[in-house]
Amino acid sequence: MQTLGNLINNEAVAGRSERHATVYNPATGEPRLYVSLSSADETREAIAAAQAAFDSWSKTPPLVRARVMFRFKTLLEERRDEVARLITSEHGKVFSDAQGEVTRGLEVVEFACGIPHLLKGEFSSNVGRDIDSNSLMQPLGVCAGITPFNFPAMVPLWMLPVAIACGNTFVLKPSEKDPSATMLIGELLAEAGLPAGVLNIVNGDKEAVDVLLTDERVQSVSFVGSTPIAEYIYKTASAHGKRCQALGGAKNHMVVMPDADPQQVVSSLMGAAYGSAGERCMAISVAVCVGDEVADKLIGMLKNEIGQMRTGPGLGVEPEPHMGPLVTREHQQKVSGYIDLGVEEGATLVCDGRGFKKVEGYENGFYVGPTLFDRVTPQMRIYQEEIFGPVLAVVRVDSFDEALKLVNDHEYGNGTSIFTRDGDTARQFEENVQVGMVGVNVPIPVPMAFHCFGGWKRSVFGPLNMHGPDGVRFFTRMKTVTRRWPTGIRAGADFAMPTMK
Ligand code: NAD
Repeated sequence: MQTLGNLINNEAVAGRSERHATVYNPATGEPRLYVSLSSADETREAIAAAQAAFDSWSKTPPLVRARVMFRFKTLLEERRDEVARLITSEHGKVFSDAQGEVTRGLEVVEFACGIPHLLKGEFSSNVGRDIDSNSLMQPLGVCAGITPFNFPAMVPLWMLPVAIACGNTFVLKPSEKDPSATMLIGELLAEAGLPAGVLNIVNGDKEAVDVLLTDERVQSVSFVGSTPIAEYIYKTASAHGKRCQALGGAKNHMVVMPDADPQQVVSSLMGAAYGSAGERCMAISVAVCVGDEVADKLIGMLKNEIGQMRTGPGLGVEPEPHMGPLVTREHQQKVSGYIDLGVEEGATLVCDGRGFKKVEGYENGFYVGPTLFDRVTPQMRIYQEEIFGPVLAVVRVDSFDEALKLVNDHEYGNGTSIFTRDGDTARQFEENVQVGMVGVNVPIPVPMAFHCFGGWKRSVFGPLNMHGPDGVRFFTRMKTVTRRWPTGIRAGADFAMPTMK
């Protein structure tokens, strides 16, 4: 079986460490390839390559850097399905969902194509008599990124285009569970004309990550993953003097008001809870129904819809299933364990995703079917903890205030939404909810590339979010120049057309 190594100075480099992990095809449960787990020394070599490339790249005009992004955008568009196939083969999500993931990543590339405009800075003339002042947004140096398994293309693309277009060089450590799509993205950037060393990809685990967090040549760390690791990353990187943005886990609530359109709610919930088998940080995992009538109706309609859902491989069967497998056998067991726990805790199991009948030929895949719990309470662990699988919990409350309090009391604050036809209720929700990304009659309110992505509370560590204006701020250092010229050219005049000399 092939062993995936690293990408250093635009070249594929075989891993030298003794250690490797196995990457599986979750649809069949079969191993696909090995991925080398880089040693500390190999990680330092990647940092050295990025450090060597920084001087020249940071001085390359933003317009020239943007042109690399334009070429990369074209290549990514042309090869979108190839990237999507790799995502499906290693992550498991269905092919159309993988295509959507690449498109959302592409949008950040499009944003980064505008970097000359985004780096213009500010200018004030005459801040004092004959004194002008302006800001420069300069790159940081070597930046590091550590990314999760659930978006092997999109999350690296939240970071790379902005960091690189700002003039930084980068060392990326993708998830060891599904690294191939990320590696192809690195190859496409090289093909687009990115100079050697500007992007280096090291595959690995904690050993490589710890070097990125502590090596003094690394200026910033961008992380996306689970909350315990995000907290560790933030604390360690900060303690080593690095700028850090670390996005963590989630438990996203959808509040359903009695006046909401039931069919719209159910259609939105089905996609938001079960799309990508619930392995999205913006998946809805809790439906908060205001009133028993709303809950009873919703449960009946959801049960019916779930009965018609197809779970199967993300590629290779027609029609395409609605939902694919989970990423690994361990994760499948963890999610099944949470279903056992929900039953033990006394929640009502309406639809059970354990042990459903699998598609012929895919019996060993890592599947869990769509699962629905009713009468979940805030005291239950299935309510408190992130399950990251196709498990939807219905919580019943009596009023809007109770629903709002429930959302606000949860330790996570990544995304949330409210379904209602009443503008005043929606406005109260927008104003008072303690969550970073809010949808009104929109189930998964993922901000576009020119806005910023990030949650609140224990869903994020660090003040600046991903992409949009925050991305540019995160990947640049502001310098403010105040300038006076006591002697000038006012003494004489030049009548020739001014030209650059
Ligand atoms: P994870 O935390 O297990 O891994 C993320 C990255 O950290 C990987 O590259 C992994 O190799 C590395 N890592 C794992 N353990 C480490 C350790 N002990 N020390 C140093 N590095 C370590 O997360 P995952 O399972 O790959 O991804 C799913 C999680 O990511 C979920 O919790 C999900 O909510 C979260 N997520 C959040 C967002 C967001 O925007 N907030 C987006 C996507 C995913």
